[in-house]
Amino acid sequence: MVIFFGQPGSGKSTQGKLLAANKDWCWISAGQLLRDSDDPSIDAILNSGKLVPFETICGLVGDALSKCNNVAHVVIDGFARNIGQSRWLIENGIKYNRAVELIVVIEIDEKTIIERLSSRGRKDDTEQAIRNRLDIYKEETYPVLDYFRKEGIKIVYIDGSGTPEQVHVQIMKEVELCKLA
Ligand code: ADP
Repeated sequence: MVIFFGQPGSGKSTQGKLLAANKDWCWISAGQLLRDSDDPSIDAILNSGKLVPFETICGLVGDALSKCNNVAHVVIDGFARNIGQSRWLIENGIKYNRAVELIVVIEIDEKTIIERLSSRGRKDDTEQAIRNRLDIYKEETYPVLDYFRKEGIKIVYIDGSGTPEQVHVQIMKEVELCKLA
């Protein structure tokens, strides 16, 4: 599994999709699974910018992983976002014959994030929801990288300020270095 990390607006979904398409790998987006679930109680949490409950997101990600059986590698976007989810991913990955092989962190400054999100116009891109998502990323998600580092997982940091194609080229270099392909 290749896990994409990055603040909202960093371009991690765009990049995760490009990588998965380039390699014919599975792409699993936690946010997309939740948006597709069409459940009003989930919608309300999405609109607040807070995290949905552990069981909800782990259930969806587990189902998605079980559908990727025949694919060499899986790209995961937006999961894990806290320590509990990280432990779950490492422990349950084994069930699906998957290990966390690489973490790609896309870095970008906050001014660019706000500009990108305000022009994107998704329902949960209100000022308060964006603020909550940025806070959760700093307080809960970013520290998860230490957990993965201690597990011996390789983490690479990518400058997300270029064009999607420029960022993609940097990511492909790292993936090739990892010899996943
Ligand atoms: P962004 O990276 O811009 O926040 P996402 O599509 O990844 O966009 O996530 C949108 C929303 O989906 C989050 O604000 C949160 O409410 C919910 N969500 C996504 N991933 C998770 C997760 N791993 N655990 C709990 N909630 C999540």
